[in-house]
Amino acid sequence: MSNNLITGIHHITALADDPQKNIDFYVGILGLRLVKKTVNFDSPDVYHLYYGDDMGSVGTIMTFFPFKGIARGRHGTGQATVSSFSIPENSLGYWIERLKKYGVRHSEPQQRFDEVFISFYDQDGLKIELVANAKDTRPAWTNGFVPEEHAIRGFYSLTLTETGYEKTAGLLTSTLQHRLVSEQGNYFRYESGAGGAGTYIDIAWGNETRGLQGGGTVHHIAFGTPNDTDQVKLRETLLDLNYQVSPVMDRQYFHSIYFREPGNVLFEVATNDIGFAIDEAKDKLGESLKLPQWYEAQREQIEKSLLPIHFPKL
Ligand code: ZN
Repeated sequence: MSNNLITGIHHITALADDPQKNIDFYVGILGLRLVKKTVNFDSPDVYHLYYGDDMGSVGTIMTFFPFKGIARGRHGTGQATVSSFSIPENSLGYWIERLKKYGVRHSEPQQRFDEVFISFYDQDGLKIELVANAKDTRPAWTNGFVPEEHAIRGFYSLTLTETGYEKTAGLLTSTLQHRLVSEQGNYFRYESGAGGAGTYIDIAWGNETRGLQGGGTVHHIAFGTPNDTDQVKLRETLLDLNYQVSPVMDRQYFHSIYFREPGNVLFEVATNDIGFAIDEAKDKLGESLKLPQWYEAQREQIEKSLLPIHFPKL
């Protein structure tokens, strides 16, 4: 068993509409690498697209289920409402120009704690922030649409919007091994594992409208755990606390358990030790449609049911 049962954010998964527009935004505009093109394992007529750094490292992975024609959701309480990416301290000017070039409206730079950020929405209304900071030493993908010196380093933080903070904070700081690091009004920040960018979970709480799941909303957030042993240990602790926890699910690139936190956000705990190179060479990641073994027999039918998608042409 490891000292840190939770190492930080593993991935964030959201619901999108058109898969091509999704790729155009995350690969074309944000400059992430499409590291895996597969299907929703519970609904194989829908893609599951994974974006991240060159290897899809833990803490960089933004994933989508693009359901063409899905009704828009509504941001509000009981949801993960803001997915924040980390960029170098002096890169905000570059990004402001880049977003303008592609017609993405963004906020003015704003200050929170010791960082400056801008916010904007993706093609389906998902709220994104780019947080400029000097603390993040992670390398960026060197071969994307954004030059390495300005490229996204991975997640910075994730914001949960809740009606209250006590129960969710209790879960984070006990079983999920987070520490309160900052607070400002109704806004609390926690970190886990080694701390810093990619491990921050922020709770914003108050009397907002309840969120509604749909296009442009986060479906779930996953925390990283080192391996199967640590995952089982966490699962047992959660069950002892009367959380309804799923069995361990084989997600091919990690193993997962799922449960709802007290504020109703779907949490996942995913293992860190498998990764995306398990079924594709490192330099070919994301190029072909990968299916788990149990769907291979239906490949032809699955491929026919999926919308054709291509690499962005900017
Ligand atoms: Zn997940």
